[in-house]
Amino acid sequence: MIETTLEDFRPMMERCSNCLACKWLPYEKIESRRFGRNCPSAAYYSFNTYSARGRFHLGQVLLDGRSEFTEQAVEAIHSCTACGSCDVSCKITRYNLEPLAHNIALKERAVELGKYYPGQKAAIDCLEAERTMLPGERHSARTDWAKDLGLKDLTREKAEYAFFAGCQYSFGSGLAEKARFWAGMLRDAGVDLGYLGKADMCCGGRAKQMGFKGAFEKQAGANIAALKAAGVTAIVTPCSDCYHAFKRQYATLGLEVKTLHVSELAADLLAEGRLKFKKSIDMTVTYHDPCHLGRLGEPYVPWDGVEKKVLNQIHTWDPPRPRYAGTFGVYDAPRSVLKAIPGLRLKEMQRVREYSWCCGAGGGCSLSSPELSSATASERLTEARSTGADAIVTACPWCLRNLEKAVDENGRQMKAVDITELVALAV
Ligand code: SF4
Ligand code: SF4
Repeated sequence: MIETTLEDFRPMMERCSNCLACKWLPYEKIESRRFGRNCPSAAYYSFNTYSARGRFHLGQVLLDGRSEFTEQAVEAIHSCTACGSCDVSCKITRYNLEPLAHNIALKERAVELGKYYPGQKAAIDCLEAERTMLPGERHSARTDWAKDLGLKDLTREKAEYAFFAGCQYSFGSGLAEKARFWAGMLRDAGVDLGYLGKADMCCGGRAKQMGFKGAFEKQAGANIAALKAAGVTAIVTPCSDCYHAFKRQYATLGLEVKTLHVSELAADLLAEGRLKFKKSIDMTVTYHDPCHLGRLGEPYVPWDGVEKKVLNQIHTWDPPRPRYAGTFGVYDAPRSVLKAIPGLRLKEMQRVREYSWCCGAGGGCSLSSPELSSATASERLTEARSTGADAIVTACPWCLRNLEKAVDENGRQMKAVDITELVALAV
């Protein structure tokens, strides 16, 4: 049985061993004490309730009626960036528990009880009214980025791939041009590409990360209906949140669609010689793995089993439960695209791939816990600067926005750039 309600997680709350491995990288992966921590909220608040272990305990006392959804409890619940780093450490170090899914179930219970913040409500209201999580934007302007590109409108004709720009790339100043670049570049490389036209809307993935389960399911239902009506079988997106939504969240709702990040398609086109970099970029960069493209971007594995006890003591699942420990996320494709750019040098940070430190923008934390969000991005910049790179490059618009803000707040000591900018300069 897959846990869906807070009550379903009670056996995990009881089995959590209080080992606190979820606050650190798996020990053999720690290169230095300075960059050994993994949980942004535990590191920022420095109090156990803000860790995955602390939230298991909080869930237990709330279910037992030994505490209530106080102001402090609600802060601890909503200040999880949904980065999934605790999941990786818990699975590798201890048990096959699901701390991230439990954190989200806690958020869902808080939301059911009306315990959320005004910024979160504004985003959800906008999702309902304008089909985007970016308050102030209008659905009528959503696909302006595609104007005169000559992309197929999939509500009228078929194409091999649907290009799904996502909210940030559809509206963001300086980002809409990047959606336009990717779509035009892929089309010129011979990819049979279309978009959903007036049926294009938010994937809703952030609503789920924030605990607004009903809003997510409504949005996902609308998208699934639109994709099925258009006969879409493959999606390519430049957004890591959209990638995670289609690859993992929608899969749990029964949508089977091949999902690629633009960096994966670009890496394939480079290997086939259909995309070539002609210009050199003399720069040293370090790559930030977005959580929802990396450790949370693993393929969905259907499972419907039961929990069992062996020798009346050892917990196990029959059949064995899928173990999402981040191993099969998207890590190599963006790196191979960067390495193919002439003149560009790539230097790695200490926390990379499934052990990457979050940018701080996940889980809607910039709306619920802005100080945590800023501190988490600043920590990533400190780590990036320690490599000696000129710029931190990422493959997600949410990461980019948060890192750009941190660059401004930290005296502009290095740049934050999107992989799109580098690809556009090199072609
Ligand atoms: S690593 Fe897992 S078992 Fe250990 S305290 Fe954290 S959630 Fe509990
Ligand atoms: S999902 Fe990230 S922020 Fe939330 S408890 Fe786990 S490691 Fe901490």
